[in-house]
Amino acid sequence: MELLYEGKGKRLFATNNPDEVIAFFKDDLTAFNAQKKSSEEGKGKLNCAITTLLFELLQSHGIATHFVRKHSENEIVCKRVQIIPIEVVVRNVATGSLTKRLGVREGTILNELVEFYYKNDSLGDPLINDEHALLLGCVPHTNLLEQLRKEARAVNAILTPFFAKRNLRLIDFKLEFGLDSGNALLLADEITPDSCRFWDATSNEKLDKDRFREDLGNVKMAYEEVLSRILS
Ligand code: UDP
Repeated sequence: MELLYEGKGKRLFATNNPDEVIAFFKDDLTAFNAQKKSSEEGKGKLNCAITTLLFELLQSHGIATHFVRKHSENEIVCKRVQIIPIEVVVRNVATGSLTKRLGVREGTILNELVEFYYKNDSLGDPLINDEHALLLGCVPHTNLLEQLRKEARAVNAILTPFFAKRNLRLIDFKLEFGLDSGNALLLADEITPDSCRFWDATSNEKLDKDRFREDLGNVKMAYEEVLSRILS
């Protein structure tokens, strides 16, 4: 298979169908714009399984996504899209960069705060506003930015109660979107403990990539726990 692109967590391959690609989930772990790197055997399979179940869940609730089907333990088939270079972050509880940047107290409950970050590794994915997004040509018009916010909130409205039933708090998460060959907006990339923060609702134990970022250990066990709760 022809390698189209290699990112920090996935490799993208061409298929015989020009409208479809295969995403391979790697075991690599990176944080702080890849300044911290490691690998966790079996993480790719866990993320592939988690993303499959969550995209299927979202699709069953009417969210348009790039997900087509699971292909193997580490691979999914996706619709080929042009990725919009914006990371859409939804925050339900203050932590991470929000607390550092604005001094908001860790754990403050937020009313689904939506933020845009410019997807650009050499600039360190800076926070941007709508006018910056237009200036940078990330989107052709403001309506698309409104659509991104609306879709991100719709995803939150499905995922937050889904995880709450499984005794997990969805603290925050990052989404990416793309446009398909017909210019339809599709939710793309992945939804995994690499891209979301999950806290156990009873103990507030972190069950996501923060275990790697903060050297808390048991990274794989946390991802396994998230998968087993999704399956429960
Ligand atoms: N996030 C991500 N990729 C990034 C930056 C953030 O998936 O390049 C996710 C992160 O896992 C968290 C949310 O987006 O669920 C908000 O992250 P934050 O801005 O707090 O960044 P961090 O503290 O990770 O620098």
